[in-house]
Amino acid sequence: MTRVGVLALQGDVREHRAMLEHLDVETVPVRTPADLQGLQGIVFPGGESTAIAHLLKSSGLAEALGELINDDFPVFGTCAGLILLSSEILDGRAQQWSFGALDVAVRRNGYGRQIASFEVPVSVSGIGEYEAVFIRAPRIERVSKEVSVLASLDKDGEHPVLIRQGNLWGCSFHPELTTDSRIHDAFVQSL
Ligand code: GLN
Repeated sequence: MTRVGVLALQGDVREHRAMLEHLDVETVPVRTPADLQGLQGIVFPGGESTAIAHLLKSSGLAEALGELINDDFPVFGTCAGLILLSSEILDGRAQQWSFGALDVAVRRNGYGRQIASFEVPVSVSGIGEYEAVFIRAPRIERVSKEVSVLASLDKDGEHPVLIRQGNLWGCSFHPELTTDSRIHDAFVQSL
C-alpha cells in the first residue's frame, strides 16, 4: 500500500489526509523527523507559510526534509506548501525561510488577501477541467525552464497555478478542499 506523509505542523492536514485515504493511500501525520520513516512521498498543506516554516525549524524537520528533498524525495506543496518549496518568495515576511527546491518565484497573497479568495475552473494537463479554490493564494511569477506548467490561470495576466519539477509538485490553489481527487491521484500515481 502506498504510504504518504502529510506535514502536520499547521494548516489543512485533515483535508489532505481524507483525500488521500479516499484514494486508498495510507497517510501519516508528520510532526517529527522519525515520522518520515517508510514514506513514499509527503504533502505540504495550505495554511500559514511563516508559521509552518518556524515549526519546521524547531521540530528538526527542516533539516531532515531538506536532505530528503536533495535526494529527490517526492513532495506535493499546496498554497502555503508551495511557498515553502519555492526558491524565491516575494512579499514574504522579513527573512522568510524556504527549502528553495522548486525553481520558481512566488508572491505571497499575490491574488489579494482573504477577501479576494475565489473559485474558478482551470484546465489541467492530463486531467481536464478542474474547479480550483484559491484562498490568499501565492501567485507564481517566474518559473525556470526545468519546471512544467500543468495548469495556469489568466487573471491579471497569465500565471501558472499547478507545476511540476521532477518529483516536486506545487499548486497555488487547494485541491484538498474539493471532492475532486484527480490532482492528488496524479501525484500518487507518480510515486
Ligand atoms: N497566504 C498564506 C501564506 O502566505 C497561504 C494561504 C493558504 O495556504 N491558504 O502562508
